Amino acid sequence: MKIFNEKFSILLLMMPIIAFCDSHRTYDGYKVYEVTLGTQNDVNFLKSLTEVDDDDSFDFWSLQSTVGSVSTVMVKPDRQNWFEKSLANRNIQYRVSIMDLENVINEERQYQLKMKSIHWGRSMNSDEMRFDRYYEHDEINKYLDSLASSHKNVEVKVIGKSYEGRDIKVIKITNGDGIEKKNSIFIDAGIHAREWIAPATALYVVQQLLNDESMAKILNILDIVVNPVVNPDGYQYTHKKERLWRKTRSKNIPGCVGTDGNRNFDFHWGEVGASPIPCMETYRGNKAFSEKETQALRDAVGEIKDTCKFYLTLHSYGNYMLYPWGYTSKLPDTWKDLDDIAQIGASAIKNATGTTYTVGSSTNVLYAAAGGSDDYMFAVFNVPISITMELPGGGQNGFDMPASKIDETVHESSIGIFAMIQAVGQKYN
Ligand SMILES: [Zn+2]
Repeated sequence: MKIFNEKFSILLLMMPIIAFCDSHRTYDGYKVYEVTLGTQNDVNFLKSLTEVDDDDSFDFWSLQSTVGSVSTVMVKPDRQNWFEKSLANRNIQYRVSIMDLENVINEERQYQLKMKSIHWGRSMNSDEMRFDRYYEHDEINKYLDSLASSHKNVEVKVIGKSYEGRDIKVIKITNGDGIEKKNSIFIDAGIHAREWIAPATALYVVQQLLNDESMAKILNILDIVVNPVVNPDGYQYTHKKERLWRKTRSKNIPGCVGTDGNRNFDFHWGEVGASPIPCMETYRGNKAFSEKETQALRDAVGEIKDTCKFYLTLHSYGNYMLYPWGYTSKLPDTWKDLDDIAQIGASAIKNATGTTYTVGSSTNVLYAAAGGSDDYMFAVFNVPISITMELPGGGQNGFDMPASKIDETVHESSIGIFAMIQAVGQKYN
């Protein structure tokens, strides 16, 4: 009996470990390549791989469309030979930046666990956020709620439920003067689940707005609404199951889960760069606004559309300030207004840290992708400044910045964001 008990308790002890090991998708043998595009043909070749009807063979972490730029692509083990030969035949320069992705992802996971236990050890307050690890969705929601209870000028609202029933929250920060018709700004992040640096940056902006006294000038003329995690189901899935998941988690057809939220908006929906195939990473959904998450975001911005002067959506990665259109290479009539603000953000970062951002319309400097939130807010809600900011990535260290670099990255990014906010505030005051 005793032996049985011992064995049984050992088994019980092991169960969480087994469950933990089993629960993550592995990336054993996956390589990540940095490919330098020497000619337009090289660009075209790489782009053609985004249409391979298999979402797992080639996963573009950053896809550039200009000659001389470097694109980053993850390739699954059984396609690597073919890929390397194809590049060699075309004389395309490349280097392997990550030899075995599973090692990198496992290191990230261990680091996250370590930092989490350090935080618990310190018994941190829930209204304290440190930018030395990536937080999970429930922690972020708790953080927002605690800010609402500790600040008179903060309001937190549930704008909808995700497909799996999670609360999607926004935080509204004002100067507390109660004036209703002030100009406003909407910032969101995390519509693409794996882009962890984006929610971290949105939360850093929130923290700065509340803690830095020099922000009073901004809050005197603008109310700021932030939705730090647009796609909480996907975000949690990247934390618990599959680090590089991008889409929502809605069920489409058997075996294919999720829609690309940033192809799901109802403006030129279903046109260029938005796949009709449910298994693909850029699946546009079976109709515009098929997703509860994009509906919630639409309604939240729609509620302030009369006062909203600036819609900023945070993504990673690639160091871009992008503006409409995403569905065509044509530019909107007011492109100069958009360009001015985007340039102000890029220059502020360049001056502060030397980091370079490329500025331009999505289609012209990156690639065409219809059904994006930026085009929609600009065209349908007439938000005059609508910008997608592609934050920096982790380079040789993985998809996003390693956790040890979050603090530095969010600080740098916030310099550009606050410069743009300030410029918009003055422009429309
Ligand atoms: Zn993205």
